[in-house]
Amino acid sequence: MKIVIVGGVAGGATTAARLRRLDENAEIILFERGNHISFANCGLPYYIGDVIKEKEELLLQTPKSFKKRFNIEVRVKQEVIKLKREDKKVEVQNKENGEIYEETYDKLVLAPGAEPMNPFPKSTKIKTLRNVEDAVEIKKYINENRPKEITIIGGGYIGVELAENLSKEKDLRLKILERNDHLIAPLDQDMANFVHTKLNKNGIEIILKNGVQEVKEIDSKMEILLQNGNKIESDLILLCMGVIPETNLAIRAGIKTNEKGSIIVNEWMQTNDENVYALGDAVQVNHIVTESPSYIPLAGPANRQARVVANHICNRKTSYLGSLGSSILKIFDCNLGITGINESICIRDHIPYKVMIISPYSHATYYPGATQMTIKALYDPKTGKILGAQVWGKESVDKITDILATAIRMKMTAYDLEELELCYAPPFSSVKSPVNILGNSIENEIEGLVENITWKEVMKLEDPYILDVRTNREYENSHLEKAVLIPLDELRTRLEELPKERIIYIHCHTGLRSYIACRILSQNGFQVKNIIGGYYFYKKAIEPGN
Ligand code: FAD
Repeated sequence: MKIVIVGGVAGGATTAARLRRLDENAEIILFERGNHISFANCGLPYYIGDVIKEKEELLLQTPKSFKKRFNIEVRVKQEVIKLKREDKKVEVQNKENGEIYEETYDKLVLAPGAEPMNPFPKSTKIKTLRNVEDAVEIKKYINENRPKEITIIGGGYIGVELAENLSKEKDLRLKILERNDHLIAPLDQDMANFVHTKLNKNGIEIILKNGVQEVKEIDSKMEILLQNGNKIESDLILLCMGVIPETNLAIRAGIKTNEKGSIIVNEWMQTNDENVYALGDAVQVNHIVTESPSYIPLAGPANRQARVVANHICNRKTSYLGSLGSSILKIFDCNLGITGINESICIRDHIPYKVMIISPYSHATYYPGATQMTIKALYDPKTGKILGAQVWGKESVDKITDILATAIRMKMTAYDLEELELCYAPPFSSVKSPVNILGNSIENEIEGLVENITWKEVMKLEDPYILDVRTNREYENSHLEKAVLIPLDELRTRLEELPKERIIYIHCHTGLRSYIACRILSQNGFQVKNIIGGYYFYKKAIEPGN
């Protein structure tokens, strides 16, 4: 069997290695048009920020090491320029000498990835980041030209990672331009405010709700014209506007794609030609939660799909059932984890949902170093099935997000979360893990013990009666203008101060005391709603900048 692979990074190299482990006799040829195979794209922003010092540390395999370990023929600087499916051949151009030749295959694997969007005219002062060469070029440009102002267009993962990494440069003004109303699209706007505040506090300016209309090079500067008519000058522009699947080669050969150019594959990653497989950033995937076609260009899915491709070629039928979009991002001293779907997807796809927000500690508070995190989870109001989660904090964000990603993948409900037995000792977690607490909080609402409401909903109400059940000292420190204060521990003796004819919206600092207050008041005949997230979430996410 002869297998030809197009693209030698996450998807392509992983497929090649698995193929060899399954079939010692197969002939495997890997084409990569760049200089390197199997490099760590995900490490590139950290190389630019000098966290990773040497570019060699990004090269996980070389053609030589791949040959030695896996007996795979790697041809770098060779671009596949045509697929001749009817003859089972590919046409290849050697980038060094321009020579064009053909190679036959029994099975063809397409792992060409996705390219950064760049709708602007070419300029040495506009750069994108996809591979090691790009990273080296950006770093060199900055070192040689010492720009005073860098503008990052696009506030997704890569844009934010780059901003953090560049923020260490002395005397550099950094801006992120984003046309949406918040950075990191898979987040909800409220959770994104944690990110905005953190970036602002670290000197990074964020301009939201303002797309870029035009970019011009004027003298030694770049001029960026925004949709609102404002102009920004910059010494260097880093484009992080997202990626588009690099599938022209496949499209020209009649491989089926969706309207956005992502290759359509079945559960074994086969295209409409059973001898041609595709994977990674080039393909459309099924979204595990929405069960609809989606585009999730991440390294984890590409690697897992590679195993499925190799398995199927070697007659082992494992399936790729879909992606969740689980991702994590370090932002200065905080971390952000995301999995499943957010509110805008629920609204777009008419998926019924409710929100739960809790802010538990990373571990037992009596053990030194515990830090607070915020978990926003979406769930099915009837069944309690977990649909998505966004986690922000300093510690354990990866752990909590991963548990919730597992829960979503296994279609678990809040009731299942309550039952999870997770490891505990004071330095690591609390007796009730944040995941158990999340399950409890959702169950309380589904079982009718409390009715929850979000700040967003409260703020739409005309003249709501808001009860603050924090302590006098907390209230004096800062409070909502309209809120009436009755500390929780005085509530039972001050019931007569509260109106029976009105709905009382109750908040505390993070939501636990307000839940207790709701239980006391509802059992005394009051109409109450618990404002989830509490004053902490209000200050951090609803009215940020504090
Ligand atoms: P790629 O890794 O892009 O590889 C495709 C290769 O195919 C390219 O090297 C290209 O040169 C080659 N190629 C294309 N066409 C041809 C052709 N015709 N002939 C020969 N060769 C060809 N994901 C995460 O999950 N976490 C992260 O933290 C993360 N950080 C990232 C940071 C950066 C800066 C970037 C750019 C990406 C990051 N990603 C991250 C995304 C992740 O790297 C991709 O999802 C993953 O690499 C996709 O793998 P792939 O094999 O589909 O494509």
